Amino acid sequence: MKKTELKKFKAILEEKRDAITTSSTVKKTHWENMENTRHGDFVDQASDDNEVHVNIRLLQTDAKLMRAIEAALSRIEDGSYGLCTMCGEEISVARLKAVPWTSVCIACKEKKTA
Ligand SMILES: [Zn+2]
Repeated sequence: MKKTELKKFKAILEEKRDAITTSSTVKKTHWENMENTRHGDFVDQASDDNEVHVNIRLLQTDAKLMRAIEAALSRIEDGSYGLCTMCGEEISVARLKAVPWTSVCIACKEKKTA
């Protein structure tokens, strides 16, 4: 992969990482506010609980994505970014553009999910 391309992907990954960090902070604040306002009647509390579950799920997804992004950034550092970690082939740039933090090529991804 060209150095200029690599730089572009690095910028995309860093931006995405920052976005997750920011949104996690926002969610956490929202959560804390919710704790403070938890004095409604029973119905309100039930819907609050649902919202908490949704937030937990979002946070877990973010954490997973965050690990993938961190791993991709370290592959950029050690020069293995863009190579499939399963078969060693180059991952197509089109795929990297769609999912910049991916570590496997489309063929291996399909094998994995099959
Ligand atoms: Zn592969």
